[in-house]
Amino acid sequence: MDKIYQHSSAIAADITLNNILDIIVEGVWDWNGKTKIVTRSPGWYRMLGYEVAILRADVFTWEKLIHPDDYPRVMLQFERYISGENDTYEVEYRCKKSDGSYLWIADRGTIVARNPDGSVARMIGAHHDIHQQIMAQTDLIEQNKSLQDGNLSLEKMIAQKTYELAKKNQQLERKVIEVESVANRDPLTQIANRKSFETELSKEIIRANRYLHPLTLVMFDLDKFKEINDKHGHKVGDNILCSISNLVAKNIRDVDLFARWGGDEFVIIFPELSQKQAHQSSEKLRIMIDEYKKTNKLSVTCSFGVAQYKDGDSINSLFQRVDKQLYISKEQGRNQVYSETTGATQ
Ligand code: GH3
Ligand code: MG
Repeated sequence: MDKIYQHSSAIAADITLNNILDIIVEGVWDWNGKTKIVTRSPGWYRMLGYEVAILRADVFTWEKLIHPDDYPRVMLQFERYISGENDTYEVEYRCKKSDGSYLWIADRGTIVARNPDGSVARMIGAHHDIHQQIMAQTDLIEQNKSLQDGNLSLEKMIAQKTYELAKKNQQLERKVIEVESVANRDPLTQIANRKSFETELSKEIIRANRYLHPLTLVMFDLDKFKEINDKHGHKVGDNILCSISNLVAKNIRDVDLFARWGGDEFVIIFPELSQKQAHQSSEKLRIMIDEYKKTNKLSVTCSFGVAQYKDGDSINSLFQRVDKQLYISKEQGRNQVYSETTGATQ
């Protein structure tokens, strides 16, 4: 193997070595365990911004320059290597520069001689500037973290928005139900209004035709209600309309459809009831209203008309027939139920 250097003497070899140490960027250190002297290359000083050879040539200089947070970790690695526990000494840490800032370096060292008792006689090593690399890594980690945080907050934001949207939808659904119920309800008595009654009656007619079930329509009207209003005032009249609505609603079946037709006029659909059965039910209601007046100071009675749906009936024709029965009921003295075939009961 060709020799790179041909030195005539040890002094000449030392000159070469010192020149090399002078120009390399790495900071080389050489610790003599016996003399306790640590020789540091000019590169070592330059890396940290110190004037060459300005610091004391001992290990304390090195220890004092190590960042306090890194110190325990560095010492642990150093001890482990020296004691033979670890095969290598290689550690990254921050070293204090002349301006007080810290520089990240990678420190590598190797024992070149041991004393007979095993203690270190000589160890040499080098500092390598890894500051830019560490800074870039830190930046990357921070960028990653903020990216993750960003993703997280984005996910959170989406979840929050989804939740808010679901809540808004629920509110909207409730509003739709509310609006529908307002649209289908009589504002005074809170029972079904004419519009919803007509819709329901159409459905019941279809059902009656489909299953060939009877279906009877009842219409009743308060007797001489105008007089009550005139005598006691509109407010009292309103209360009576509400009381009668309540009373009737409580005393019909769930399947029966009860609505305010308008003014003091009410309608009930009795699905699956023949005219005769609906007549009986109406009679019970008439008596109930009549008796109700006795427990109240005000006297209110109602007249009823009953008509059963016939094949081929339209809503209009059915209403015309029931209206006629109500008219007869009024004509014949009021406070009575009148139906096409049964006639009157009182
Ligand atoms: P009849 O026995 O012939 O039915 O006599 P009536 O006085 O009840 O006459 P009609 O049914 O034609 O008059 C209805 C009255 O009902 C007229 C009006 O004073 C009253 N009325 C209608 N709607 C309301 C209401 O919302 N509140 C109140 N307080 N009164 C009403
Ligand atoms: Mg009336």
